[in-house]
Amino acid sequence: MKNILILPGDGIGPEIMAEAVKVLELANEKFALDIELSRDELGGAAYDKYGVPLADETLERARAADAILLGAVGGPQWDTIDPALRPERGLLKIRSELGLFGNLRPALLYPQLAAASTLKPEVVSGLDILIVRELTGGIYFGQPRERLVKDGQRMAYDTLPYSEHEVRRIAKVGFDMAMVRNKKLCSVDKANVLASSQLWREVVEEVAADYPEVELSHMYVDNAAMQLVRAPKQFDVIVTDNMFGDILSDQASMLTGSIGMLPSASLDANNKGMYEPCHGSAPDIAGQGIANPLATILSVSMLLRYSFNAVKAADAIEQAVSQVLDQGLRTGDIMAEGCRQVSTAEMGAAVVAALKNL
Ligand code: NAD
Repeated sequence: MKNILILPGDGIGPEIMAEAVKVLELANEKFALDIELSRDELGGAAYDKYGVPLADETLERARAADAILLGAVGGPQWDTIDPALRPERGLLKIRSELGLFGNLRPALLYPQLAAASTLKPEVVSGLDILIVRELTGGIYFGQPRERLVKDGQRMAYDTLPYSEHEVRRIAKVGFDMAMVRNKKLCSVDKANVLASSQLWREVVEEVAADYPEVELSHMYVDNAAMQLVRAPKQFDVIVTDNMFGDILSDQASMLTGSIGMLPSASLDANNKGMYEPCHGSAPDIAGQGIANPLATILSVSMLLRYSFNAVKAADAIEQAVSQVLDQGLRTGDIMAEGCRQVSTAEMGAAVVAALKNL
């Protein structure tokens, strides 16, 4: 029996989660996955219930779970509380407490939505790449970092450290992901300039010896940024450090033009993970029943694929989403001419119906 902890969060979180849970429950039944669900609160909802954005008992439940499915956190009603208790603090704490160092950000563009991208449809149609970003090391955490005055000038510096252990474990995630996809991995660095990147490249090469089936390439980050907009479909999996991954994953996600469609995962060393849509809690549309639940439904697919290796169930959910788009059903954020605009619940029900019939 595998346990999934459900954390709906704030804003549109509970609305999109309700639909994702219906899809998850059906997949559980249809593919005999032996999954049980438990629920708790994170973010503003946890602050309202427990007085903190991540209660100790919730953290314990998260540690004990096999995977976590999260909606989104945050909202204007918590903007004025003690900064240490803000909803986003709960999210950062659960990531760091669980050691979720591997951030997976797919950029997947269903051909039916190609017109939503700012790039030409032929460049992005059918785009399906996965960026694996190192999430707990590198320049965002490196010490020393300092701001000072030297010779009458203000100056500041940061430090970009990586140990071989940190590189090896994220490289392994990259190779593991390539193995369950198209077996192509591109490691992105700046090894022509940075010492940390030279170590990165060296260690990635060493890890490659354990994955003879994966075709490994290396690319400098400036070229990768260019290639992502020139010919993004050349990539399958990209593995890169914290800062490069931060920038490239945002760039790649915008190739798809639609934030309501993109799932993400953060994994630890045993592929235990927390899965969530890339978007936030969208307080501007919360409570109206119009949010797009597909990013959260696709997060369920990622969860089944990467934490439980339930490839058939994951594929089926993605196929069901594709069929619903084929039927011309769209929530407001992806609405296009000639399509039918539907509510959050109608979109969820359509995915459930498509999955049932597969
Ligand atoms: P946001 O992603 O919540 O919203 C940006 C825009 O996209 C809004 O116009 C929103 O209506 C729209 N949008 C987002 N998700 C959508 C969906 N599923 N369907 C349709 N439209 C959707 O970002 P924001 O407005 O900058 O932040 C709002 C709150 O969310 C803030 O409190 C912020 O801190 C929080 N946030 C949380 C997370 C997270 O939980 N991982 C991530 C980003 C922002």
